[in-house]
Amino acid sequence: MSADVYRQRDNLVPASAPPTPEREPVGRPLRIAMLAPPWIPIPPPGYGGIEFVVQLLTDALVARGHDVELFCAPGSSSRAKVRTLLPAAHPDSIERALFEADHVARAFAAFDAAAGAGEPFDVVHDHCGYTTLAMADRQRTPVTHTVHGPFDDDTSDFYSHHARKGLIVCISHSQAAMAPPAVEVGAVAHNPIDVAAWPVGQSKQDYLLWLGRFVAEKGPQRAIDVARATGRPLILAGTVQPRHERFFATEISPHIDGEQIRFVGEVGGARKQRLFADAYAFLMPITWPEPFGMVMVESLAAGTPVIAFNHGAAPEIVEHGKTGFLVEDEQEMAAVVEQAGTIDPADCRRGAERFAPDRVAARYEAAYHAAIAAGKGVRERPRSVSPSA
Ligand code: UDP
Repeated sequence: MSADVYRQRDNLVPASAPPTPEREPVGRPLRIAMLAPPWIPIPPPGYGGIEFVVQLLTDALVARGHDVELFCAPGSSSRAKVRTLLPAAHPDSIERALFEADHVARAFAAFDAAAGAGEPFDVVHDHCGYTTLAMADRQRTPVTHTVHGPFDDDTSDFYSHHARKGLIVCISHSQAAMAPPAVEVGAVAHNPIDVAAWPVGQSKQDYLLWLGRFVAEKGPQRAIDVARATGRPLILAGTVQPRHERFFATEISPHIDGEQIRFVGEVGGARKQRLFADAYAFLMPITWPEPFGMVMVESLAAGTPVIAFNHGAAPEIVEHGKTGFLVEDEQEMAAVVEQAGTIDPADCRRGAERFAPDRVAARYEAAYHAAIAAGKGVRERPRSVSPSA
């Protein structure tokens, strides 16, 4: 990483205190089991969209007066009570059934133990892939399940079969619109961002930024084309996950020259925030129905305009002409790059404030009460068998 990327530290506005609740809590305080995935600690040191969501939502629910226990990977910290279940985190085994099943089974045992000790949870909020929802009717606590991925051929079948076992929350209207007919969507709650925790760069540098998982549908290869077409430097940051090494080696690696196209690997914390804050614009050349896209709201929080392909949740996050641009392809993206300089960073910040954690927590609060009222996921009592049967 060349030093120029970070040279304007003095222009950064310091982060302020966490927000306090603005909206009145709905109903009584709840005892909530927040079930995070077993892969990455909370907050995540680097990559981890779901983990950022869980962190911010959990803290906001605690601030709203709820009693939250966070079941998560070792190494986590939170304003809620932290409960780790497996001996280690598994960042290199994401979606491996061995660890997910183990993590969820131990969580179910903890929910039963809490009930046995006279302190039952009112609701389980599940972020944990598939095991919890598939088995939700095998335990007694109502389940609210956030769908973090897209509804595609595989997951649509899964949700058509199992969605009735929990209250289903989608993270964008675009994702909800793709739910198969058999799936009842209980609520839409966008992912949260704590804008106050993001420094905003007061004077931009000239580089374009792409940051995320190196997979074809997220478009790092198209970001390279846009950088070449505009002559601007591009910084690529993020992770190469198992099964995607070949894509990185063939489509990305050959273009990295350390000058115009720079690769900085996985980034986290203040370093990531400065990359966003000092960028001229953030590129999101996606070709899939992005269910939300945390990186877009992070860029806005840092006062940096987002230029996104008009797919998935992008139009719910980017206000065309005000906080960035929605475009159809690489040519259109390259054509609007210069105009990103006319976007006011303060408008970007205001755009991100629509996703304040307290707002999102209020939506989930209503969803929890609906799940409890509907008895979602609650195991039916075994029917008594007549002696003569
Ligand atoms: N991320 C990070 N460091 C990296 C790459 C990604 O901290 O090197 C974070 C990024 O800031 C975002 C999350 O990982 O918070 C990715 O979430 P997003 O919704 O954008 O994508 P997905 O969950 O589909 O990977």
